[in-house]
Amino acid sequence: MRNALGLLSASVVAAVVIAAVWFWTSSPRASLAAPATISARQAERLLATASAKPIPTRADVEITAAIPAKLAAAASSAALPALQAQPKTACANPDALGVSRVVEIDTSGGPGFGFEHFKQLDFLTDKEVVLTFDDGPWPVNTPAVLKALADECTKAVFFPIGKHATYHPAILKQVAAAGHTVGAHTWSHANLNSKKASEQQAKDEVEKGFSAVKLALGAAPSPFFRFPQLQHNPAAMAYLGSRNIAMFSCDLDSFDFRAKDAAQIVNTVMTKLDKQGKGIILMHDFQKHTGEALPTLLSRLKAGGYKIVQMKAKAPLQTLPEYDEALVKDMKLPAGSSRPIGNVVQTVSQ
Ligand SMILES: [Zn+2]
Repeated sequence: MRNALGLLSASVVAAVVIAAVWFWTSSPRASLAAPATISARQAERLLATASAKPIPTRADVEITAAIPAKLAAAASSAALPALQAQPKTACANPDALGVSRVVEIDTSGGPGFGFEHFKQLDFLTDKEVVLTFDDGPWPVNTPAVLKALADECTKAVFFPIGKHATYHPAILKQVAAAGHTVGAHTWSHANLNSKKASEQQAKDEVEKGFSAVKLALGAAPSPFFRFPQLQHNPAAMAYLGSRNIAMFSCDLDSFDFRAKDAAQIVNTVMTKLDKQGKGIILMHDFQKHTGEALPTLLSRLKAGGYKIVQMKAKAPLQTLPEYDEALVKDMKLPAGSSRPIGNVVQTVSQ
């Protein structure tokens, strides 16, 4: 079995090398179509990995063994298609709003987005929209938002509150698992521009918020941050810049938190959007009416010819270890306390 799998991984590596050489020697093709460019990049990355580890180790073979038999069989008969075996979830809705464009953000220096406060980076073209959701994760309301987005096969950016992430980590995991971008929105939703907030407190709110999101997700969040109440404190902004964290205001506030019902949210957003023509929309997955409004809002966006742009970070945030550790201590997470005793202690001989 191991020999067979070793052969299989060797043939995959060989195919990758052939594919990469082919792309490099026919450079005009590589620059022609987007799919070709993506394949070339994948090949390059895989090749880099392959050359770093020229001989597949036993551990590699063991990992390969985890590939489902069907996929492994396909890979052995024709190694090239295996390169395209990306986990692409098919969209069940043929008329879905979808995602028209994915942009990757280099967060070096802490760029700002959202024309309400940051005017430098005007990257959206006419009819392009970015959906953003704050203050989650929260039971019922966040899952309602996730379902509406999934039904339209579209993606958004979420700015969870650190405390909420520690209350409902499983819901935040669902957000990330659905392929949405996850940043942070402080630890406790404190107004960082309040006269009472010191620079140290602002730093703590930022860092603890990101560490809490990381703890909930089990993976580092994107270095995307939104100030509570859009209260931009200059010192805190400088700090975020030094941490290479992008700041998000918005182009268009839905005011969903004070809407009396779902219809009002739809009307507010569509009226502003039709006037402005594009923009980053601020909403709250924490709010009940937002989840209720979303199916209608998304179909109105589609009908109005709007297109969804997803913003992703070029690299995840490196959280600060002291905040990660302090958070775990704060939460007094007893190791393994939630495991049933039978999973911890087993009689193996008597
Ligand atoms: Zn908020």
